[in-house]
Amino acid sequence: MLNVVIFGAPGSGKGTQSKLIAEKYNLAHVSTGDLCRKAIHNNTHEGVIAKSYIDKGELVPDETILNMLDAFLESLPREQGVIFDGFPRTVAQAEALIEIMQSHGTKVSVLLNLEVDSDELMARLLKRAETEGRSDDNVETIQKRLEVYEKQTLPVIEFYRQRRLYKPIVGVGDINDIFGRVCEVLNELK
Ligand code: AMP
Repeated sequence: MLNVVIFGAPGSGKGTQSKLIAEKYNLAHVSTGDLCRKAIHNNTHEGVIAKSYIDKGELVPDETILNMLDAFLESLPREQGVIFDGFPRTVAQAEALIEIMQSHGTKVSVLLNLEVDSDELMARLLKRAETEGRSDDNVETIQKRLEVYEKQTLPVIEFYRQRRLYKPIVGVGDINDIFGRVCEVLNELK
């Protein structure tokens, strides 16, 4: 069973590549950012908590994220492979994911890291701000999110590197070329 973690800074193209990967490899796409936005839209208890962090560009507490993720995974058929998009974002979440996967009798197959330099990230996020209107796509919040990524999320790379599950992918250029590089890695695992 294929379980993929797609990793990278905000604006690195995780969402775009996840959709392509989910379709080609028949995986369920789990974006914890989307789960948060859905909870906010539905005005749930978790949504109220998530909003207060997202609007500041900070990470939503692990417990809130893990509750939403658990509920989503429980709704999937057994034997359904998953692509995790925007999760794990902390080492504590990476540790929790090992247990979650174990309880489903499976494990993470690989972490794909989309590598994009910071000037390009900022340009992409500002462009997205114009087209998608996300409340956290403004200069101040973007800067905070990139800072949080470096401090809290980057250590996740080392966690997977030590477990020999880390694969860097050049995340710049044509979307289909990037996807081609992703497929080269995933086809080796199948
Ligand atoms: P994203 O759509 O992945 O860019 O996520 C948008 C925002 O949702 C992030 O800036 C965080 O505030 C929050 N978020 C999404 N996923 C997580 C996560 N795994 N852990 C903590 N916060 C998250």
